[in-house]
Amino acid sequence: MTQVTKVGFIGLGIMGAPMALNVLRAGYPLTVWNRTREKAKPLLEEGAVWADSPADVARQSDIIITIVSDTPDVEEVILGPNGVIHGARPGSVVIDMSTISPHVTQRIARELAARGIEMLDAPVSGGDIGAQEGTLSIMVGGKPEVFERCLPLLRTMGKRITHVGPNGAGQFTKLVNQIIVVGNTLAMAEGLVFAAKAGLNLEKVLEAVSAGAAGSWMLTHRGPQIIRGDFRPGFTVRLQQKDVRLVLEAAREMAVPLPGTALIHQLYHALEARNLQDEGNHALIKALEWLADVEARQT
Ligand code: NAP
Repeated sequence: MTQVTKVGFIGLGIMGAPMALNVLRAGYPLTVWNRTREKAKPLLEEGAVWADSPADVARQSDIIITIVSDTPDVEEVILGPNGVIHGARPGSVVIDMSTISPHVTQRIARELAARGIEMLDAPVSGGDIGAQEGTLSIMVGGKPEVFERCLPLLRTMGKRITHVGPNGAGQFTKLVNQIIVVGNTLAMAEGLVFAAKAGLNLEKVLEAVSAGAAGSWMLTHRGPQIIRGDFRPGFTVRLQQKDVRLVLEAAREMAVPLPGTALIHQLYHALEARNLQDEGNHALIKALEWLADVEARQT
């Protein structure tokens, strides 16, 4: 008889809650913990079991998933006094799906390995909608055999699941993703501000350029939102700045100049100065609109 894999889930935020639900609905026995207990309620109603700490989750689980905010938060739930490391059995696997520092990820993997616990770094792309629909892109770092073992579980949350290399490679790949995302965001913003100043019909401009060499996910999804004046977040300025900071820190450690990404980090400060951290990352265009004294809206 094949043994059922017991899964633990830590971090039930915008991303974690729907991801955990997909795991549960795929039939895995699920134990959960979240710092704010209320957020676990919908999952408990569907049959998940509550545990009192990350260590307790680990005691009940063969594979433990974490998805919390930032690097120190992952360190706390995995290595902290009530962390996963104190409950996990040798041979169990920790999959961290947060976006955090690749170098700290490698250190966490080493500390877990010293106790015989495996780790994958498996950050995601695809936003809250991808999390709900189970269509995330997942970039995975770790041993190939551990990746293979966890693949059926990862398939309940994602569509494009790529093993990119050893521990840390998943996080580095996610940062590559973010460098390209913010570059596309700036390119879109500059194009639309220029078009507005030239007095062009912005809807027509989007229609004309989206399908050609200038096309991008950002232009297709966020361009129409910008010209409608809709800055509701799929991904907030706050989290975008966290990721750009991670990119710039890793780049500094490796002595890689990233002049474009550094400039975008500065432009986002202009939004932070006006308390716009909770708007969507496409609100970057506002910094350029203020400079050019024009708004790229189609009224
Ligand atoms: P979120 O809604 O703010 O949720 C954050 C989660 O982390 C919450 O469950 C929170 O607990 C928990 N947490 C934070 N600090 C903690 C700590 N020190 N100890 C224990 N728990 C802690 O964020 P999210 O959007 O789900 O993002 C989670 C991760 O996914 C981030 O690394 C983010 O960069 C990444 N991500 C997000 C998106 C997106 O579109 N949102 C896309 C790709 C990747 P409480 O409930 O108690 O606050």
